[in-house]
Amino acid sequence: MSDLLTPDAGEPLVSAGSPTNLDFEITPPRVATLGPITIRRALPVRHRRMVGPWCFLDRYGPLSFAKEKPMDVAPHPHVGLQTVSWLLDGEVIHNDSLGCEGLIRPGELNLMTAGHGIAHTEETPTENTGHLSGVQLWVALPDAQRNGAPAFHQYSSLPKFDLPGGHATLIMGEWAGNTSPATAYSPMMGAEVCVHPGQQLTAPLRADWEHALVVLEGEVSTSHQTLVLDALHYLKPGHTELNLKSERGAKVMLLGGAPFGETILMWWNFVARTAEEIQAARDNWQQHRFAEVPTYKGPRTEAPELVFRPVAR
Ligand code: MN
Repeated sequence: MSDLLTPDAGEPLVSAGSPTNLDFEITPPRVATLGPITIRRALPVRHRRMVGPWCFLDRYGPLSFAKEKPMDVAPHPHVGLQTVSWLLDGEVIHNDSLGCEGLIRPGELNLMTAGHGIAHTEETPTENTGHLSGVQLWVALPDAQRNGAPAFHQYSSLPKFDLPGGHATLIMGEWAGNTSPATAYSPMMGAEVCVHPGQQLTAPLRADWEHALVVLEGEVSTSHQTLVLDALHYLKPGHTELNLKSERGAKVMLLGGAPFGETILMWWNFVARTAEEIQAARDNWQQHRFAEVPTYKGPRTEAPELVFRPVAR
């Protein structure tokens, strides 16, 4: 998955109001296809490039399949970011240029820290349930870490806890008195949150952080807004509590963090700071200066043409 969709995201449907009210700025996702998978890209959108250090969120599935291999992302590079792979259903297997392999199922996290550079694949494994539903996220690395050594880690045991009206799994960072074991390099949080049917969920927010919510399944509303499946619901700093209600139950992804203090440049699979860095990363991939992913049977992903439109984000 890469940041190369046509920039067709609409204007926000609803603009954020007073910070004292829980008013989400709601922006519909961009839609694209990746083979047989339809992707809804909630981040970045035109008016929101980041939420804390989070810079990318693709939602895919749910889908069912028989003999096909719906997830088949050939070797491709990353620099300057962490990839956060999270499933709601099915399974995905990761392989990378370090020789790491990681098969995840729902509730397990694959976290790849690209640092100065790594290549990887993501595939539906041969033995599978015939279902696939998930989220692919990226976290921008701060300047002090973005040129560091690449790494891959899998976390199969993450903090799970009850909240009034629901429960949550903390994927990244710190939230509600819990800390994820996954290595984070910025003040941040990312969690899968379930709102129980017929209940109102109450959860704490840090007033000095910005947050965003993406509805993954079900229906959910606040006291005065009906939230939209797959859309980015952005909440600026100044809120101390999240209140959500659901008649039939819902599953949402909640992201948050201190506003990222650096201006990033994002192109294809790279997060950098300057056009020259993007050009160098592309050249390194095209000239095979990244290590290979030895497990993949098939051609790798070639970089698209670099037609550069520098955009400060
Ligand atoms: Mn990738």
